Amino acid sequence: MNNRKQRVWLLWSAKASVVMAATAALIGTANATCWRDANVTALMQAVAQEGFPNAASRMPAGLVCEGSDFGPNIGGDYTGGIHQIRIPQWQLNGTGLRSVLAHELAHAETWLTGGSDANHGHSADFMRALLRAGWGGEAQRVGQQFAGAQHALDQARASLAGDASARGQRQGGYQPPIYTPPTTTYTPPTVMVQVCHDEQITVVRQVRPHFFAPAVMTRRICQWVPAQ
Ligand SMILES: [Zn+2]
Repeated sequence: MNNRKQRVWLLWSAKASVVMAATAALIGTANATCWRDANVTALMQAVAQEGFPNAASRMPAGLVCEGSDFGPNIGGDYTGGIHQIRIPQWQLNGTGLRSVLAHELAHAETWLTGGSDANHGHSADFMRALLRAGWGGEAQRVGQQFAGAQHALDQARASLAGDASARGQRQGGYQPPIYTPPTTTYTPPTVMVQVCHDEQITVVRQVRPHFFAPAVMTRRICQWVPAQ
């Protein structure tokens, strides 16, 4: 058992040096890892116009990036502040691109309207944005995937149902929050792209007196680099 553990640890530390070498290479070639794709931009615009009014009136920048820029099981990401969606290249070959864009647009809609970023962004505000746009299936998937997200989905459903019944009683009904552009013109630093990578480091921990054990920790390093 001990032997096996030791072997696993050696494999990990070998992997760590490979990851670090790859990291150095990635930083060197970071400019080439993301690009704009006209088809993805057009699809993103269409999905936004179908149900994300704030994002549609102020479209996020959309980038396609090499899959190696993302962690495992990451289908895409959105960064507030620079208001940017990134899609891994492998998504272009699959059937999930539309729902991934809807998911990231819901993050953008939430950010633009000052919504909560609880549960790694999967808050009740995020869920309301998805549900209002008709993406109930995606909301359900997210609810099962992230801690706290199911509760957020329940809250969102309850508040939208309340709005729907109120709509029957009075004129107007539920109005989605509308983004008001700041008076000073916002200039997004579109020349910058975010590059992240996971790095494994080995640390030695004292588990009891006179006994030390190596452990592998993964940390995500992100940095902004100039785009081309
Ligand atoms: Zn998300």
